[in-house]
Amino acid sequence: MITTHPFDDDKLREECGVFGVSGADGAAALVALGLHALQHRGQEAAGITSFDGELFHTHRAMGHVAGNFDRPDVMEQMPGRVALGHVRYSTTGETALRNVQPLYAELATGGFAIAHNGNISNAMHLRRELVQSGSIFQSTSDTETIIHLVATSDFRTPLDRFIDALKQVEGAYSLICATPQMMIACRDPLGIRPLVMGKFGDSIIFASETVALDVVGAHFVRSVEPGELVIVHHDGRIESVRPFAPVSPRPCIFEWVYFSRPDSIADDQSVYSVRKSIGAQLAIENPVEADLVIPVPDSGTPAAIGYAQQSGIPFELGIIRSHYVGRTFIQPGDKVRHLGVKLKHNANRALIQGKRVVLIDDSIVRGTTSLKIVQMMREAGAREVHMRIASPPTRHSCFYGVDTPERAKLLAAKLDLGGMTDFIHADSLAFISIDGLYKALGEAGRTAVRPRYCDACFTGEYPTPLTDQMERGGQDQLELLGN
Ligand code: SF4
Repeated sequence: MITTHPFDDDKLREECGVFGVSGADGAAALVALGLHALQHRGQEAAGITSFDGELFHTHRAMGHVAGNFDRPDVMEQMPGRVALGHVRYSTTGETALRNVQPLYAELATGGFAIAHNGNISNAMHLRRELVQSGSIFQSTSDTETIIHLVATSDFRTPLDRFIDALKQVEGAYSLICATPQMMIACRDPLGIRPLVMGKFGDSIIFASETVALDVVGAHFVRSVEPGELVIVHHDGRIESVRPFAPVSPRPCIFEWVYFSRPDSIADDQSVYSVRKSIGAQLAIENPVEADLVIPVPDSGTPAAIGYAQQSGIPFELGIIRSHYVGRTFIQPGDKVRHLGVKLKHNANRALIQGKRVVLIDDSIVRGTTSLKIVQMMREAGAREVHMRIASPPTRHSCFYGVDTPERAKLLAAKLDLGGMTDFIHADSLAFISIDGLYKALGEAGRTAVRPRYCDACFTGEYPTPLTDQMERGGQDQLELLGN
């Protein structure tokens, strides 16, 4: 496992980021830059496919964008004014080059390249049907199911075949595809995963987050709407198609808590500002007498600023990160992980000694990192250690393209609040409420009927059918029922 950040070892992980360019010279180079800005969404592998007006060219590699897509010999192999790319952290499908995207196939209608952020929750069901009727899969990725549905569709045009395929899949998808005629960007009807559209001169850009537009110098135009297909023909014409019956969107609320970069804008809201509001709401709901508010770096920082401003307790950097430890190749195993924490982070002992500290983190998954950080504070002489979490307890797995440990390993699924507090050895532990999280996003609270966001990892209320999970039965079914 490659990780850049030992504290992130115990986080939910966004598994993908996508980026596409239509109508720019050297499109692949822009995609490489965009993917670099999306690297936080997936660090295991990256890929780019370009189209030069006649042929498609693909390069896929394990590892980071830097080191793979900053090499002239690689980039020279991907000419053309159209390109799309993908960064990946695998959940569905093993970690292997054959699963790295964009995936590409030669269909009866011509070449078809696809990059996918999300997870198709009936992919196994569809795959079994497709294999029975003769399809031959080359990867274990759920995304390949879409290619086979397009290939076997009875419709005539590539666009109609693609729409036909999308109508058969369930779950979460933000997709960027390229054919010899067009680039298509689309989101699932609930808009679970994000996708935005920008402009760079005359060219159109699609990206998982606005931060990737910033990096290439593009300006934000708008979000691709839930259930919308934006089609950019290679002659420059742009169309919007909405083939699904309209439903209330349910974007992933965890994008605001953790996944998106704080310098991104999502649904017209600054992610950084929302995180500060979450911290402020956390302070309102869960005050504590303390001397210092300390963020768990780096993702807890905006919420900690909000908590400090609301509570009046001074914000201080009590955990210092070394910027001189390069990318660490960390093997799974608690002992080595712990070593990674000590290499990269150290308690600011002079500050902490004798103080009552409030640690702010964005979430607790297994709880192992929280335990280490509390220990780090105590070893540095903290008098009291209080932990405040800027999301509700994560009690359920995500089936929409986010890597969650199986439910049995989620601390909040196993233990009540007292048990969790004991497990991490804190003096107190508290989470923001689900209503509080919605309030920080500008809502009055969570409505029982069709809430504004997907929040299934907190509530267990999944907004789509989960056919594969239900067919698997057993433990997974219990999980769906929230037991
Ligand atoms: Fe996001 Fe959680 Fe819903 Fe997954 S289950 S899409 S992480 S809110």
